[in-house]
Amino acid sequence: MRVLGIETTCDETAAAVVETDETGRPFIRSNEVLSQIAAHAAYGGVVPEIAARAHVEVVDRLVARALEQAGLKLADMDGVAAAAGPGLIGGVMIGLTTAKALALVAGKSLIAVNHLEGHALTPRLIEQVNFPYLLLLASGGHTQLIAVRGVGDYVRLGTTVDDAIGEAFDKVAKMLGLGYPGGPKVEAEAAGGDALRFALPRPMLGRPVADFSLSGLKTAVRLEAERIVPLRPRDVADLCASFQAAVVDVVVDRTRTALRSFHEKAGYPTALVVAGGVAANQAIRRGLTRLAAESGLRLVAPPLPLCTDNGAIIAWAGLERLRLGLVDDLTVAARPRWPLDQSRDTVAGAKA
Ligand code: ATP
Ligand code: MG
Ligand code: FE
Repeated sequence: MRVLGIETTCDETAAAVVETDETGRPFIRSNEVLSQIAAHAAYGGVVPEIAARAHVEVVDRLVARALEQAGLKLADMDGVAAAAGPGLIGGVMIGLTTAKALALVAGKSLIAVNHLEGHALTPRLIEQVNFPYLLLLASGGHTQLIAVRGVGDYVRLGTTVDDAIGEAFDKVAKMLGLGYPGGPKVEAEAAGGDALRFALPRPMLGRPVADFSLSGLKTAVRLEAERIVPLRPRDVADLCASFQAAVVDVVVDRTRTALRSFHEKAGYPTALVVAGGVAANQAIRRGLTRLAAESGLRLVAPPLPLCTDNGAIIAWAGLERLRLGLVDDLTVAARPRWPLDQSRDTVAGAKA
């Protein structure tokens, strides 16, 4: 089975071809990503109008390139999938409309994928991971702990009440003059800093519900930075190290709390999975590796190009849906907001 996947929900335009062999084992035939980071860097974040224009300019070319790299034609596909939300509405409409047009002209199935479902099913693209498992999805736009019970069957155990984790990294980087995107810059600074110098808060630590709050921590970094005049490179490194250490403590504590409540909603997890751009952070990975070991679980972390936004995760989620017969018609709408646990269908027994 083969699916072409298109991703345009944020600041990456991406297209990919994923196929499965007779045994159902997946292969990524191509995965073409064009990041708009340079176009948005001057503004310190993603500008929706710039993003939409950039998507419309390159999406056709990326689809052509993904097919070419795969050595296949549109006619060879079984389905065309696109992320239909959540995300910036202009971008989402461009990707979804492109997928509709391709599916219509080639007479292929259309699959409208929830972008978060793409992240949620990624571990199954790289190795055999059975349902249910606990997913920590942490990116610039999302921070969620999700019990993944099956395709289309998700229970949210926790989320952020304010900033996403990646967003907090980006804002801290911006206030310290490190540039955008902030995550990698803060991590690099933290490597040479003293994590014990600043006693920063660990919001939500010990709370019984697995929710996050990051804005108080971010503000605490700002207040410390404002007290130090002039702010020297040493101070910036120490602030980054102290901030990152606080984030790791919060992430491990919140994920442990979600693991405790997991069995009530979904039975016993087969793995702990981390995805989203923040999963690139080595300190966070180490914290989660410790937690997984302490809980007798394995940690599955997709390779970095599959952690951040790309077309292969959309193609794969599309293929998982297609092989269960979950297809969409041409009237399906783009959804700027689309919580994963409000999936339009729940597939009873879809545990394959
Ligand atoms: P969405 O939330 O819709 O998936 P996004 O573009 O924000 O969109 P990603 O591309 O998955 O999500 O991730 C980007 C985010 O990950 C940014 O906020 C970035 O700062 C953060 N990030 C990347 N590398 C690191 C790192 N090493 N440490 C911490 N955060 C990081
Ligand atoms: Mg991105
Ligand atoms: Fe994403």
